[in-house]
Amino acid sequence: MRNSIAIAGGGIGGLAAALCCAQADQEVQLFERAAAFTEVGAGIQLGPNVTRILQAWGLGQGLQSVAAFPPQLQVRQALTGQCTGQLRWGAQAVARYGAPYATVHRADLHQLLLDAVHAHSSVRLHLNQGVTGYSTQADGVRVGLDDGAPLNVHALIGADGLWSRVRGQLLGDGPARFSGHLAYRALLNQSDLPAALRSPDVTVWMGPHLHVVNYPVRGGELMNLVAIVNGPEPQDLSSWDHSANAADLQRALGGVCPALQALIDAVPAWRLWPLCDRPPMRSATEQAQGRVALLGDAAHPMRPYMAQGAGMAIEDADVLGRCLAQPGLNLPEQLAHYAQQRWQRNARVQQRAVRNGQIFHATGMVRWGRDTATRLFGERLLDVPWLYNGP
Ligand SMILES: Cc1cc2nc3c(=O)[nH]c(=O)nc-3n(C[C@H](O)[C@H](O)[C@H](O)COP(=O)(O)OP(=O)(O)OC[C@H]3O[C@@H](n4cnc5c(N)ncnc54)[C@H](O)[C@@H]3O)c2cc1C
Repeated sequence: MRNSIAIAGGGIGGLAAALCCAQADQEVQLFERAAAFTEVGAGIQLGPNVTRILQAWGLGQGLQSVAAFPPQLQVRQALTGQCTGQLRWGAQAVARYGAPYATVHRADLHQLLLDAVHAHSSVRLHLNQGVTGYSTQADGVRVGLDDGAPLNVHALIGADGLWSRVRGQLLGDGPARFSGHLAYRALLNQSDLPAALRSPDVTVWMGPHLHVVNYPVRGGELMNLVAIVNGPEPQDLSSWDHSANAADLQRALGGVCPALQALIDAVPAWRLWPLCDRPPMRSATEQAQGRVALLGDAAHPMRPYMAQGAGMAIEDADVLGRCLAQPGLNLPEQLAHYAQQRWQRNARVQQRAVRNGQIFHATGMVRWGRDTATRLFGERLLDVPWLYNGP
């Protein structure tokens, strides 16, 4: 039977969910609170676990035309510039995992998904239409909308991000927590940079209480730069996109090496994102209950130190689509199956992200141990087969 599914949120997770639900022959209505489908400019890394799914959805060629495919990950000390380890990607990632490691502008990935969704006549997209809440009934869900007219559907998917209303009602576990970390981000034209600062690689610079990541997007034309430092809680946590004071960042970065300093100095304007998360998921009921399910940041917001938040949203959507296409189960059973398949992997990535943050920002003996281990074990330490092999 064709079910009617409402999706709250038109971010990467919501659009991916709409696509997978449509591919599973469901009738989809997606409600986005904002006036337009947009992703604020910045980059996203996509591991082979994610690009493999995008390829399976028929988006491989589209990704090829907008993404960059870094030949390697480089780990450097922020204070000395010394390279402590490398992990080869490029052809090596394809040989090992059957799919590439890609880096992409968020807006490009978002547009790719939006175009794919538009190709399905069973999906209706609504802008300027926030989901305000829901009530469950025996055979469906009544979804409250900003314009006041409720909608009756068979199931509701909350893909409404970090401050999810759907989660608030489903789990009632209060707002996400501030991590104590601030992300300053910027995009640079590689052609504006001196040749020595241009790079096709993902480079992670690790320093005391800070780390900086740079990588190419838009086929290498642009460089995405993110500097993460400890900082005070901003007044408005719910906005991801504050104008940033470059002097605050310079102070927090302290005495980084000349090469990194030159990259930081090349940025004309920074934007600031306060980083928030939640504790790792503890059970499947945090991902779905009855006819209501959560997906992406609404379910498992995480620190970005595994570069997998959007990746997990895309994996969620893929599994959701498969579960909805599974015969012999009713809709709540299909959603329960989805939750069972997803929550432990999501929790593991959330945990590892917290741990990575501690390792990246380490001082003293932990920092010494990190650098020594990276030097000795290089690829073996930096590679993450359980993640990149997929769920
Ligand atoms: C600095 C930084 C770097 C990152 N780097 C990476 C990376 O390299 N790789 C990676 O995979 N991930 C990365 N992430 C994580 C990634 O950005 C998120 O996990 C991902 O964007 C989550 O997508 P989402 O669709 O679940 O939520 P969101 O992108 O937050 O989308 C939610 C949508 O719902 C809408 N909405 C909100 N409330 C309502 C409502 N009530 N009704 C209707 N609509 C609503 C919002 O307007 C928004 O469009 C990074 C995050 C940060 C902060």
